[in-house]
Amino acid sequence: MSTVRTIGAQAHFPVHPGRMTGMDTTVRSIVAGGDPQTPTHGGPSGVQDPDTRRVVVVSPRGYCAGVDRAIATVERALEIHGPGVYVRKEIVHNKHVVTALRDKGAIFVDEVDEVPEGHVVVFSAHGVSPAVRTAAQARGLVWIDATCPLVTKVHKEAKRLAAAGMEILLIGHAGHEEVEGTYGEAPEAIRLIEHPADAALVEVNDPDHVAWLSQTTLSVDETRETVARLRQRFPALVDPHSDDICYATQNRQSAVRQVAEQCDCVLVVGSANSSNSVRLVEVALDAGAGAAYLIDDVNQIDPAWIAGTHTVGVTSGASVPDHLVLDVVTRLQACGFTDLVEHHPIDETLTFALPPSIR
Ligand code: SF4
Repeated sequence: MSTVRTIGAQAHFPVHPGRMTGMDTTVRSIVAGGDPQTPTHGGPSGVQDPDTRRVVVVSPRGYCAGVDRAIATVERALEIHGPGVYVRKEIVHNKHVVTALRDKGAIFVDEVDEVPEGHVVVFSAHGVSPAVRTAAQARGLVWIDATCPLVTKVHKEAKRLAAAGMEILLIGHAGHEEVEGTYGEAPEAIRLIEHPADAALVEVNDPDHVAWLSQTTLSVDETRETVARLRQRFPALVDPHSDDICYATQNRQSAVRQVAEQCDCVLVVGSANSSNSVRLVEVALDAGAGAAYLIDDVNQIDPAWIAGTHTVGVTSGASVPDHLVLDVVTRLQACGFTDLVEHHPIDETLTFALPPSIR
């Protein structure tokens, strides 16, 4: 069931907008896919004045439980071991996060063979294949695994299915670290499916013993289409125990989908290598946004994108610190978007404990 929250006393948005710029800003909440409600902070009625420019701030957005845990893992490792903790790959796919951790003393490398023998290395939220652990062990490294538990769940499924003699059709993007990690659990059993069209091409040894798994950050709609096509070819196709596309990916896509049609433009804060951020742009466009753009931060907003627009949606990928979203909203307010609305159809309460070795 959808919940409606208002920016203010129970704010999901971190700063009371009236204090952000001192501008005469109205604040409202909206329900899923619906029209604005009567404002609860005073101000005019929920009907948008044609001359009023509106920002729709979408939630859930930003850090998911897995990203929160991964960043906290590096910070805790730095507290315990001091500067010089190595991190294999970007801990999460956001350049601002990586820069902030580097400034605190984290050293980012691509592979464990770049880590001096005996040193501490953190594995990123996207997970690693068994071969990476073996290589770390061979170098005598002390590793701390920040793999998101929801990615670990997919790894375990891959191992279980392969052990049961199933062929696994893994839906995901070639070269993405998460896919490389999952693939490495059972390379002999896994076939990669990148696009719905691949469903017609993939070859399997035994159509009666086929299962599918997916990357956690894919488009919900496209994955559903891919699975439907696979099932047409392989009616005995086995589903995962539970949905691999994680709750955070689904919630962020669902929330932006509900407001996209109302928006002349949607700004998605996130890095280009962040799968879930890129998917939010695609979902917004598919759902009817006039335009949608991926930006690392406020400095990448092209004024031409918002010229002549009345309603701009703002959201962010699961690896994005919220201060970057706040910067974007503040900039929009300065550009005359004085009507600030929050769309918050669902609360997220999931948290993950830190890895045992650093609790
Ligand atoms: S997006 Fe999902 S799978 Fe990825 S780190 Fe966040 S919670 Fe985990």
